[in-house]
Amino acid sequence: MIDVDVVIVGAGAAGLMCAAQAGLRGRKTLLIDHVRKAGNKIRMSGGGKCNFTNYSVEAENYLSNNRHFCKSALSRFTQWDFLALIDKYQIPFHEREHGQLFCDHSSKDILDMLLAECAQAKVEIRLNEKIQSICVASADGFILKTEDTQIHCQSLVIATGGLSIPTMGASNFGYKVAEQFGLKVLAPSAGLVPFTLQPEDKERFAPLSGIALDCRLSNDRISFRENLLFTHRGLSGPVALQQSNYWFPGETIEADLLPSHDLYHELIEAQQQQPNSKLKNVLTHYFPKRLVAAFVASALAEKRLQNLSHRQLEELSQSFKCWQLKPNGTEGYRTAEVTRGGVDCDAVSSKTFEAAQVPGLYFVGEVLDVTGWLGGYNFQWAWASGWCAGQYV
Ligand SMILES: Cc1cc2nc3c(=O)[nH]c(=O)nc-3n(C[C@H](O)[C@H](O)[C@H](O)COP(=O)(O)OP(=O)(O)OC[C@H]3O[C@@H](n4cnc5c(N)ncnc54)[C@H](O)[C@@H]3O)c2cc1C
Repeated sequence: MIDVDVVIVGAGAAGLMCAAQAGLRGRKTLLIDHVRKAGNKIRMSGGGKCNFTNYSVEAENYLSNNRHFCKSALSRFTQWDFLALIDKYQIPFHEREHGQLFCDHSSKDILDMLLAECAQAKVEIRLNEKIQSICVASADGFILKTEDTQIHCQSLVIATGGLSIPTMGASNFGYKVAEQFGLKVLAPSAGLVPFTLQPEDKERFAPLSGIALDCRLSNDRISFRENLLFTHRGLSGPVALQQSNYWFPGETIEADLLPSHDLYHELIEAQQQQPNSKLKNVLTHYFPKRLVAAFVASALAEKRLQNLSHRQLEELSQSFKCWQLKPNGTEGYRTAEVTRGGVDCDAVSSKTFEAAQVPGLYFVGEVLDVTGWLGGYNFQWAWASGWCAGQYV
Protein backbone atom coordinates (compact mmCIF):
# COMPACT_ATOMS: atom_id res chain seq x y z
CA MET A 1 0.00 0.00 0.00
CA ILE A 2 1.33 3.43 -1.02
CA ASP A 3 0.48 6.26 1.37
CA VAL A 4 0.43 9.85 0.16
CA ASP A 5 -1.24 13.09 1.22
CA VAL A 6 -2.80 13.91 -2.13
CA VAL A 7 -3.72 11.94 -5.23
CA ILE A 8 -4.68 13.92 -8.31
CA VAL A 9 -6.29 11.97 -11.13
CA GLY A 10 -5.68 13.58 -14.53
CA ALA A 11 -2.33 15.08 -15.58
CA GLY A 12 -3.88 17.76 -17.77
CA ALA A 13 -3.90 21.52 -17.34
CA ALA A 14 -5.79 21.67 -14.03
CA GLY A 15 -4.20 18.54 -12.55
CA LEU A 16 -0.63 19.69 -13.25
CA MET A 17 -1.28 23.13 -11.76
CA CYS A 18 -2.98 21.67 -8.70
CA ALA A 19 -0.21 19.10 -8.17
CA ALA A 20 2.54 21.73 -8.34
CA GLN A 21 0.76 23.89 -5.76
CA ALA A 22 0.04 21.01 -3.40
CA GLY A 23 3.65 19.83 -3.69
CA LEU A 24 5.02 23.33 -3.06
CA ARG A 25 3.03 23.36 0.20
CA GLY A 26 4.93 20.27 1.25
CA ARG A 27 2.13 17.81 0.59
CA LYS A 28 3.26 14.41 -0.65
CA THR A 29 1.52 14.44 -4.01
CA LEU A 30 0.91 11.73 -6.60
CA LEU A 31 -0.41 12.69 -10.04
CA ILE A 32 -1.92 9.81 -12.01
CA ASP A 33 -3.01 9.61 -15.65
CA HIS A 34 -4.23 6.67 -17.69
CA VAL A 35 -2.47 7.77 -20.91
CA ARG A 36 1.25 7.63 -21.66
CA LYS A 37 1.83 11.39 -21.88
CA ALA A 38 0.86 14.23 -19.56
CA GLY A 39 -0.90 17.30 -20.93
CA ASN A 40 -2.04 15.96 -24.28
CA LYS A 41 -4.57 18.77 -24.77
CA ILE A 42 -2.04 21.43 -23.84
CA ARG A 43 0.24 20.02 -26.50
CA MET A 44 -2.41 20.07 -29.25
CA SER A 45 -4.03 23.35 -28.21
CA GLY A 46 -4.15 26.58 -30.17
CA GLY A 47 -2.87 24.91 -33.33
CA GLY A 48 0.28 23.86 -31.44
CA LYS A 49 0.85 27.34 -29.94
CA CYS A 50 -1.50 27.07 -26.92
CA ASN A 51 -3.80 30.02 -26.39
CA PHE A 52 -2.94 29.84 -22.68
CA THR A 53 -4.93 32.83 -21.38
CA ASN A 54 -6.48 36.15 -22.35
CA TYR A 55 -5.72 39.75 -21.34
CA SER A 56 -9.37 40.17 -20.39
CA VAL A 57 -11.01 37.46 -18.29
CA GLU A 58 -14.49 38.01 -16.86
CA ALA A 59 -17.14 35.70 -15.41
CA GLU A 60 -19.23 36.62 -18.48
CA ASN A 61 -16.78 34.62 -20.61
CA TYR A 62 -18.00 31.42 -18.96
CA LEU A 63 -21.20 29.36 -19.01
CA SER A 64 -22.40 27.38 -16.03
CA ASN A 65 -25.64 26.52 -14.34
CA ASN A 66 -24.16 28.49 -11.42
CA ARG A 67 -22.82 31.60 -13.12
CA HIS A 68 -21.26 33.01 -9.92
CA PHE A 69 -19.21 29.90 -9.18
CA CYS A 70 -16.17 30.77 -11.31
CA LYS A 71 -15.75 34.30 -9.94
CA SER A 72 -13.83 33.47 -6.78
CA ALA A 73 -11.11 31.34 -8.39
CA LEU A 74 -10.74 33.65 -11.39
CA SER A 75 -10.10 36.56 -9.01
CA ARG A 76 -7.63 34.63 -6.82
CA PHE A 77 -5.52 33.25 -9.68
CA THR A 78 -5.77 35.68 -12.56
CA GLN A 79 -4.34 35.85 -16.05
CA TRP A 80 -1.64 38.14 -14.58
CA ASP A 81 -0.61 35.40 -12.14
CA PHE A 82 -0.25 32.96 -15.01
CA LEU A 83 1.72 35.57 -16.97
CA ALA A 84 4.06 35.94 -13.98
CA LEU A 85 4.77 32.21 -14.28
CA ILE A 86 5.33 32.59 -18.02
CA ASP A 87 7.72 35.42 -17.24
CA LYS A 88 9.59 33.31 -14.65
CA TYR A 89 10.24 30.67 -17.34
CA GLN A 90 10.90 33.35 -19.99
CA ILE A 91 8.43 31.83 -22.42
CA PRO A 92 8.02 34.12 -25.42
CA PHE A 93 4.40 34.84 -26.35
CA HIS A 94 2.30 37.18 -28.45
CA GLU A 95 -1.17 38.69 -28.45
CA ARG A 96 -3.66 37.97 -31.21
CA GLU A 97 -7.08 39.55 -31.68
CA HIS A 98 -9.48 39.82 -28.72
CA GLY A 99 -6.59 39.72 -26.21
CA GLN A 100 -5.76 36.07 -26.89
CA LEU A 101 -2.24 35.09 -25.79
CA PHE A 102 -0.27 32.39 -27.63
CA CYS A 103 3.23 30.93 -27.34
CA ASP A 104 5.67 32.19 -29.97
CA HIS A 105 7.31 28.77 -30.32
CA SER A 106 5.25 25.84 -29.12
CA SER A 107 2.59 24.79 -26.66
CA LYS A 108 5.21 22.39 -25.33
CA ASP A 109 6.77 25.42 -23.57
CA ILE A 110 3.67 25.58 -21.33
CA LEU A 111 3.69 21.86 -20.65
CA ASP A 112 7.42 21.86 -19.88
CA MET A 113 6.88 24.76 -17.50
CA LEU A 114 4.16 22.90 -15.58
CA LEU A 115 6.22 19.71 -15.49
CA ALA A 116 9.20 21.73 -14.17
CA GLU A 117 6.97 23.22 -11.46
CA CYS A 118 5.82 19.72 -10.50
CA ALA A 119 9.40 18.41 -10.45
CA GLN A 120 10.46 21.31 -8.23
CA ALA A 121 7.54 20.53 -5.91
CA LYS A 122 8.59 16.84 -5.83
CA VAL A 123 5.32 15.65 -7.33
CA GLU A 124 5.42 12.01 -8.38
CA ILE A 125 3.79 11.48 -11.78
CA ARG A 126 2.55 8.05 -12.79
CA LEU A 127 1.42 7.71 -16.38
CA ASN A 128 -0.33 4.82 -18.12
CA GLU A 129 -1.90 3.89 -14.75
CA LYS A 130 -5.54 2.89 -14.62
CA ILE A 131 -7.63 3.33 -11.50
CA GLN A 132 -10.02 0.45 -11.03
CA SER A 133 -11.91 1.57 -7.94
CA ILE A 134 -12.12 4.26 -5.29
CA CYS A 135 -13.54 3.84 -1.81
CA VAL A 136 -13.58 5.78 1.43
CA ALA A 137 -10.88 4.55 3.83
CA SER A 138 -12.04 3.35 7.23
CA ALA A 139 -9.93 5.87 9.20
CA ASP A 140 -9.85 8.85 6.86
CA GLY A 141 -9.25 9.64 3.21
CA PHE A 142 -9.63 7.32 0.25
CA ILE A 143 -8.23 4.05 -1.08
CA LEU A 144 -7.63 3.76 -4.81
CA LYS A 145 -6.99 0.42 -6.47
CA THR A 146 -4.97 0.27 -9.66
CA GLU A 147 -4.04 -2.89 -11.59
CA ASP A 148 -1.12 -3.74 -9.32
CA THR A 149 -1.26 -1.49 -6.28
CA GLN A 150 -3.40 0.21 -3.64
CA ILE A 151 -2.96 3.85 -2.79
CA HIS A 152 -4.17 5.62 0.33
CA CYS A 153 -4.56 9.40 0.29
CA GLN A 154 -6.11 12.05 2.51
CA SER A 155 -7.20 14.26 -0.37
CA LEU A 156 -8.39 13.07 -3.74
CA VAL A 157 -8.58 15.53 -6.63
CA ILE A 158 -10.50 14.67 -9.78
CA ALA A 159 -9.01 16.57 -12.73
CA THR A 160 -10.01 14.26 -15.56
CA GLY A 161 -11.47 16.97 -17.83
CA GLY A 162 -14.37 16.58 -20.23
CA LEU A 163 -15.30 14.20 -23.02
CA SER A 164 -13.88 15.97 -26.04
CA ILE A 165 -11.25 14.21 -28.21
CA PRO A 166 -11.53 10.68 -26.77
CA THR A 167 -8.42 9.64 -28.74
CA MET A 168 -6.39 11.98 -26.47
CA GLY A 169 -7.44 10.27 -23.24
CA ALA A 170 -10.80 11.91 -22.49
CA SER A 171 -13.09 9.75 -20.37
CA ASN A 172 -16.21 9.97 -18.23
CA PHE A 173 -14.20 8.91 -15.16
CA GLY A 174 -14.79 12.20 -13.32
CA TYR A 175 -18.55 12.06 -13.81
CA LYS A 176 -18.63 8.45 -12.59
CA VAL A 177 -16.70 9.37 -9.42
CA ALA A 178 -19.05 12.30 -8.82
CA GLU A 179 -22.07 10.01 -9.14
CA GLN A 180 -20.47 7.35 -6.94
CA PHE A 181 -20.27 9.96 -4.15
CA GLY A 182 -23.78 11.33 -4.73
CA LEU A 183 -22.89 14.54 -6.62
CA LYS A 184 -25.15 15.62 -9.47
CA VAL A 185 -23.70 15.71 -12.99
CA LEU A 186 -25.34 18.13 -15.42
CA ALA A 187 -25.80 16.51 -18.82
CA PRO A 188 -22.55 16.89 -20.77
CA SER A 189 -22.54 17.93 -24.43
CA ALA A 190 -19.97 19.09 -26.98
CA GLY A 191 -18.98 22.79 -26.90
CA LEU A 192 -16.73 24.97 -29.08
CA VAL A 193 -17.53 22.65 -31.93
CA PRO A 194 -18.34 23.05 -35.65
CA PHE A 195 -21.97 22.81 -36.81
CA THR A 196 -23.22 20.22 -39.27
CA LEU A 197 -25.96 21.20 -41.73
CA GLN A 198 -29.32 19.74 -42.70
CA PRO A 199 -28.91 17.47 -45.77
CA GLU A 200 -30.40 20.02 -48.21
CA ASP A 201 -28.20 22.86 -46.86
CA LYS A 202 -25.17 20.58 -46.87
CA GLU A 203 -25.64 19.98 -50.58
CA ARG A 204 -26.37 23.63 -51.30
CA PHE A 205 -23.35 24.95 -49.42
CA ALA A 206 -20.87 22.18 -50.26
CA PRO A 207 -19.34 24.27 -53.10
CA LEU A 208 -18.51 26.98 -50.55
CA SER A 209 -16.02 24.78 -48.69
CA GLY A 210 -12.93 26.82 -47.81
CA ILE A 211 -14.63 30.25 -47.90
CA ALA A 212 -14.06 32.33 -44.73
CA LEU A 213 -15.79 35.64 -44.06
CA ASP A 214 -16.50 38.11 -41.28
CA CYS A 215 -19.88 37.19 -39.79
CA ARG A 216 -22.15 37.82 -36.85
CA LEU A 217 -24.03 34.84 -35.42
CA SER A 218 -26.82 35.50 -32.94
CA ASN A 219 -29.58 33.84 -31.00
CA ASP A 220 -31.87 35.32 -28.38
CA ARG A 221 -29.18 34.87 -25.71
CA ILE A 222 -25.91 36.01 -27.28
CA SER A 223 -24.18 37.31 -30.38
CA PHE A 224 -20.59 36.81 -31.61
CA ARG A 225 -18.77 38.44 -34.50
CA GLU A 226 -15.70 36.71 -35.92
CA ASN A 227 -14.76 34.66 -38.97
CA LEU A 228 -17.13 32.00 -40.30
CA LEU A 229 -15.63 29.13 -42.29
CA PHE A 230 -17.64 26.97 -44.68
CA THR A 231 -16.35 23.39 -44.61
CA HIS A 232 -17.35 20.25 -46.51
CA ARG A 233 -19.17 19.10 -43.35
CA GLY A 234 -20.84 22.37 -42.35
CA LEU A 235 -19.85 25.58 -40.57
CA SER A 236 -16.73 26.18 -38.55
CA GLY A 237 -14.39 29.06 -37.73
CA PRO A 238 -14.24 30.98 -34.45
CA VAL A 239 -17.73 32.49 -34.70
CA ALA A 240 -19.36 29.07 -35.18
CA LEU A 241 -17.38 27.57 -32.29
CA GLN A 242 -18.31 30.46 -29.97
CA GLN A 243 -21.99 30.23 -30.89
CA SER A 244 -22.01 26.44 -30.45
CA ASN A 245 -21.54 26.95 -26.69
CA TYR A 246 -24.96 28.62 -26.66
CA TRP A 247 -26.78 26.35 -29.12
CA PHE A 248 -29.14 23.51 -28.36
CA PRO A 249 -30.52 20.97 -30.88
CA GLY A 250 -33.46 22.25 -32.89
CA GLU A 251 -32.61 25.94 -32.41
CA THR A 252 -32.23 28.44 -35.25
CA ILE A 253 -29.29 30.84 -35.47
CA GLU A 254 -29.35 34.14 -37.33
CA ALA A 255 -26.29 34.90 -39.45
CA ASP A 256 -25.30 38.34 -40.71
CA LEU A 257 -22.80 37.67 -43.49
CA LEU A 258 -22.03 41.37 -43.95
CA PRO A 259 -22.03 42.93 -40.47
CA SER A 260 -20.21 46.14 -41.45
CA HIS A 261 -22.61 47.09 -44.21
CA ASP A 262 -26.19 48.28 -44.58
CA LEU A 263 -26.57 46.15 -47.69
CA TYR A 264 -30.12 47.24 -48.53
CA HIS A 265 -29.30 50.96 -48.65
CA GLU A 266 -26.03 50.32 -50.45
CA LEU A 267 -27.92 48.35 -53.14
CA ILE A 268 -30.45 51.19 -53.51
CA GLU A 269 -27.55 53.60 -53.94
CA ALA A 270 -25.92 51.27 -56.49
CA GLN A 271 -29.25 51.06 -58.34
CA GLN A 272 -29.25 54.86 -58.71
CA GLN A 273 -25.60 55.14 -59.69
CA GLN A 274 -25.16 52.10 -61.92
CA PRO A 275 -28.66 50.94 -63.01
CA ASN A 276 -27.24 48.82 -65.84
CA SER A 277 -25.04 46.68 -63.61
CA LYS A 278 -26.05 43.08 -63.14
CA LEU A 279 -26.95 42.15 -59.59
CA LYS A 280 -24.34 39.36 -59.48
CA ASN A 281 -21.58 41.82 -60.38
CA VAL A 282 -22.59 44.22 -57.62
CA LEU A 283 -22.81 41.43 -55.05
CA THR A 284 -19.35 40.13 -55.89
CA HIS A 285 -17.98 43.44 -54.51
CA TYR A 286 -19.08 42.11 -51.14
CA PHE A 287 -18.92 38.30 -51.37
CA PRO A 288 -16.97 35.57 -53.20
CA LYS A 289 -18.67 34.49 -56.46
CA ARG A 290 -19.38 30.99 -55.15
CA LEU A 291 -21.25 32.41 -52.18
CA VAL A 292 -23.39 34.67 -54.38
CA ALA A 293 -24.23 31.65 -56.54
CA ALA A 294 -25.35 29.65 -53.49
CA PHE A 295 -27.51 32.45 -52.07
CA VAL A 296 -29.08 34.04 -55.16
CA ALA A 297 -31.07 32.18 -57.81
CA SER A 298 -29.26 32.48 -61.15
CA ALA A 299 -32.18 34.17 -62.96
CA LEU A 300 -32.28 36.88 -60.30
CA ALA A 301 -28.50 37.25 -60.21
CA GLU A 302 -28.48 37.96 -63.97
CA LYS A 303 -30.98 40.85 -63.67
CA ARG A 304 -29.88 44.46 -63.99
CA LEU A 305 -30.33 46.63 -60.90
CA GLN A 306 -32.84 48.91 -62.71
CA ASN A 307 -35.15 45.92 -63.15
CA LEU A 308 -35.31 45.11 -59.45
CA SER A 309 -37.88 46.53 -57.06
CA HIS A 310 -36.97 47.91 -53.63
CA ARG A 311 -38.88 44.98 -52.17
CA GLN A 312 -36.67 42.53 -54.09
CA LEU A 313 -33.52 44.34 -52.94
CA GLU A 314 -34.73 44.25 -49.38
CA GLU A 315 -35.48 40.53 -49.51
CA LEU A 316 -32.11 39.94 -51.08
CA SER A 317 -30.22 41.87 -48.39
CA GLN A 318 -32.20 40.03 -45.72
CA SER A 319 -31.05 36.71 -47.14
CA PHE A 320 -27.43 37.75 -46.46
CA LYS A 321 -27.96 39.86 -43.35
CA CYS A 322 -30.60 37.74 -41.56
CA TRP A 323 -29.84 34.22 -42.82
CA GLN A 324 -31.94 31.87 -40.67
CA LEU A 325 -29.73 28.90 -40.16
CA LYS A 326 -30.91 25.66 -38.56
CA PRO A 327 -27.94 23.36 -37.91
CA ASN A 328 -28.51 19.63 -38.10
CA GLY A 329 -26.22 19.15 -35.12
CA THR A 330 -22.55 19.48 -34.24
CA GLU A 331 -19.50 17.41 -35.04
CA GLY A 332 -19.62 16.17 -31.45
CA TYR A 333 -16.82 15.18 -29.10
CA ARG A 334 -14.61 14.01 -31.97
CA THR A 335 -13.66 17.62 -32.74
CA ALA A 336 -15.11 19.65 -29.85
CA GLU A 337 -12.66 21.76 -27.86
CA VAL A 338 -14.66 21.51 -24.65
CA THR A 339 -17.54 19.79 -22.87
CA ARG A 340 -20.51 21.77 -21.63
CA GLY A 341 -22.13 20.61 -18.40
CA GLY A 342 -20.35 18.37 -15.90
CA VAL A 343 -20.14 18.09 -12.13
CA ASP A 344 -22.71 20.42 -10.57
CA CYS A 345 -20.91 23.46 -9.13
CA ASP A 346 -23.56 23.79 -6.41
CA ALA A 347 -22.14 20.62 -4.87
CA VAL A 348 -18.58 22.02 -4.68
CA SER A 349 -17.00 24.88 -2.70
CA SER A 350 -15.98 27.76 -4.98
CA LYS A 351 -13.18 28.54 -2.51
CA THR A 352 -11.57 25.14 -1.96
CA PHE A 353 -13.17 23.00 -4.71
CA GLU A 354 -13.99 20.37 -2.10
CA ALA A 355 -17.29 18.54 -2.47
CA ALA A 356 -19.64 19.88 0.22
CA GLN A 357 -20.88 16.43 1.23
CA VAL A 358 -17.62 14.47 0.81
CA PRO A 359 -14.69 15.82 2.85
CA GLY A 360 -11.39 15.30 1.07
CA LEU A 361 -12.84 14.93 -2.45
CA TYR A 362 -12.08 17.78 -4.87
CA PHE A 363 -13.02 18.54 -8.51
CA VAL A 364 -11.09 20.99 -10.70
CA GLY A 365 -10.96 22.08 -14.33
CA GLU A 366 -13.26 21.12 -17.15
CA VAL A 367 -14.86 18.18 -15.32
CA LEU A 368 -16.89 20.86 -13.52
CA ASP A 369 -19.87 22.55 -15.11
CA VAL A 370 -17.83 25.59 -16.18
CA THR A 371 -17.26 26.16 -19.90
CA GLY A 372 -15.26 29.04 -21.29
CA TRP A 373 -15.46 30.90 -24.56
CA LEU A 374 -12.86 30.39 -27.24
CA GLY A 375 -9.83 32.59 -26.53
CA GLY A 376 -7.76 31.06 -23.70
CA TYR A 377 -10.64 31.05 -21.20
CA ASN A 378 -10.75 27.29 -20.73
CA PHE A 379 -7.10 27.09 -19.83
CA GLN A 380 -7.44 30.08 -17.51
CA TRP A 381 -10.23 28.20 -15.74
CA ALA A 382 -8.05 25.08 -15.49
CA TRP A 383 -5.11 27.08 -14.06
CA ALA A 384 -7.31 29.07 -11.65
CA SER A 385 -9.34 26.15 -10.30
CA GLY A 386 -6.26 23.92 -10.09
CA TRP A 387 -4.24 26.60 -8.30
CA CYS A 388 -6.99 27.37 -5.78
CA ALA A 389 -7.63 23.72 -4.91
CA GLY A 390 -3.86 23.27 -4.60
CA GLN A 391 -3.88 25.66 -1.60
CA TYR A 392 -6.29 23.41 0.34
CA VAL A 393 -5.80 19.77 -0.60
C1 LIG B 1 -8.00 20.58 -29.90
C2 LIG B 1 -8.17 21.40 -28.68
C3 LIG B 1 -7.60 22.66 -28.63
C4 LIG B 1 -7.78 23.47 -27.52
N1 LIG B 1 -7.20 24.70 -27.47
C5 LIG B 1 -7.39 25.49 -26.41
C6 LIG B 1 -6.73 26.75 -26.33
O1 LIG B 1 -5.93 27.12 -27.19
N2 LIG B 1 -7.02 27.53 -25.24
C7 LIG B 1 -7.86 27.11 -24.24
O2 LIG B 1 -8.06 27.87 -23.29
N3 LIG B 1 -8.42 25.91 -24.26
C8 LIG B 1 -8.20 25.09 -25.32
N4 LIG B 1 -8.78 23.85 -25.33
C9 LIG B 1 -9.55 23.41 -24.15
C10 LIG B 1 -8.55 22.96 -23.05
O3 LIG B 1 -7.63 22.07 -23.60
C11 LIG B 1 -9.30 22.29 -21.89
O4 LIG B 1 -10.37 23.08 -21.46
C12 LIG B 1 -8.34 22.04 -20.73
O5 LIG B 1 -7.30 21.20 -21.15
C13 LIG B 1 -9.07 21.42 -19.55
O6 LIG B 1 -8.13 21.10 -18.57
P1 LIG B 1 -8.39 19.89 -17.58
O7 LIG B 1 -7.13 19.71 -16.85
O8 LIG B 1 -9.63 20.08 -16.85
O9 LIG B 1 -8.60 18.63 -18.55
P2 LIG B 1 -7.57 17.98 -19.58
O10 LIG B 1 -6.51 18.95 -19.94
O11 LIG B 1 -8.40 17.40 -20.64
O12 LIG B 1 -6.87 16.84 -18.73
C14 LIG B 1 -7.58 15.73 -18.26
C15 LIG B 1 -6.59 14.60 -18.04
O13 LIG B 1 -7.27 13.56 -17.39
C16 LIG B 1 -6.85 12.33 -17.94
N5 LIG B 1 -7.86 11.32 -17.70
C17 LIG B 1 -9.09 11.22 -18.23
N6 LIG B 1 -9.70 10.11 -17.76
C18 LIG B 1 -8.84 9.52 -16.91
C19 LIG B 1 -8.89 8.32 -16.13
N7 LIG B 1 -9.94 7.54 -16.16
N8 LIG B 1 -7.82 8.02 -15.36
C20 LIG B 1 -6.72 8.82 -15.34
N9 LIG B 1 -6.61 9.93 -16.07
C21 LIG B 1 -7.67 10.29 -16.84
C22 LIG B 1 -6.65 12.63 -19.42
O14 LIG B 1 -5.80 11.70 -20.02
C23 LIG B 1 -6.05 14.03 -19.35
O15 LIG B 1 -4.63 13.99 -19.29
C24 LIG B 1 -8.56 23.01 -26.42
C25 LIG B 1 -9.11 21.72 -26.46
C26 LIG B 1 -8.92 20.92 -27.57
C27 LIG B 1 -9.51 19.56 -27.57
